[in-house]
Amino acid sequence: MGKTLNVELVEEFRGRLRELRGRLHRTAATTDEELRTLEAHQAGAPAEDVARESVTTLLSRLSAQEKHELDEVYAAQARLETGTFGICEGCGRSVPLARLRAMPAARTCVACEAREEERAR
Ligand SMILES: [Zn+2]
Repeated sequence: MGKTLNVELVEEFRGRLRELRGRLHRTAATTDEELRTLEAHQAGAPAEDVARESVTTLLSRLSAQEKHELDEVYAAQARLETGTFGICEGCGRSVPLARLRAMPAARTCVACEAREEERAR
């Protein structure tokens, strides 16, 4: 089984994911207030209905690809907090650090991703 990340790496990836999320949020938001609304939103956190509605409206400005990217970033942030970040969802081994640094939201190692693509073809 893969091991979970040490404290320094958790901090590092928190920063990287926050950066990715911020970049996508800035794509969706046109004003500072809209940006704050998005930044305050955490996937899975209970939100006021009004806030949730405006978040949905703002995120609908993203392309399907950007929306997917953002969902993956939210999911990676959740995995980071629950201690499953960096463990391949396919084989349960550690995803190499170089891959995580290149793609912080990656769910699988390269081998498992290649297998997935093979299957999708
Ligand atoms: Zn794997």
